[in-house]
Amino acid sequence: MLIAPRVELLDLKMDPFGAPSSLHPTLCWDNEDVVLVDAGFPGQLKQLREEVERAGFSLERLTRLILTHQDIDHIGGASALLVLNDRIEVLAHEQERPYVAGEKRLVKISPERMEQLAERLTTPIDAFTNARARVDRTLADGERISYCGGIVVIHTPGHTVGHISLYLEASRVLVAGDALNVVDGRLVGPNPRLTPELDQATSSLTKLAPYDIETVVCYHGGLYSGDVNARIAELAGEATPGD
Ligand SMILES: [Zn+2]
Repeated sequence: MLIAPRVELLDLKMDPFGAPSSLHPTLCWDNEDVVLVDAGFPGQLKQLREEVERAGFSLERLTRLILTHQDIDHIGGASALLVLNDRIEVLAHEQERPYVAGEKRLVKISPERMEQLAERLTTPIDAFTNARARVDRTLADGERISYCGGIVVIHTPGHTVGHISLYLEASRVLVAGDALNVVDGRLVGPNPRLTPELDQATSSLTKLAPYDIETVVCYHGGLYSGDVNARIAELAGEATPGD
């Protein structure tokens, strides 16, 4: 779905938790670059291809992959994608790189949990166990990437140590990764069950205040627009005092 000029919300269907839901990678582009933000679970390459083609591109045309963080539903699709197109430059926050690159074990994925996920997705367990991707370029808080009309990297730790959100300047879209979610049409904070440092993740939302946000893309839950900045301020206010 086109959500702003040159920005598409992708929709990868999945059912790993017993209830159908969607993952929402973002695609944005300019005259030279086609940038994918997050890559889905292992085994979702075919769906990813269909979604990217629906947006008018091919996977072979992708030039960059930005990973918001290390979780398996975000990086799991990267290795198959990179086999297909090894010219893609992969970017992630500097603190997330060792996990994404497989030098450290993914924080939230125990072998038991992996097996459970793999079973439900009918994807070989190896694809989960070996989920990793080379990181070609590390990103730092506040860094501005020049493509797609300017993308500002906002380090929003808590859900993971190196979680980033991305502000697309030209469209005023915030790609929130898992820093925010949409549930039943409401913008809410990070999922407590999957966010080890919840207070930190809530405090991180204050870092979004300087950006004039028209639309938020949540990887889980999709789009939210309207009173975005006011709603985020409200959510950030729920942080434990002193954090
Ligand atoms: Zn996620």
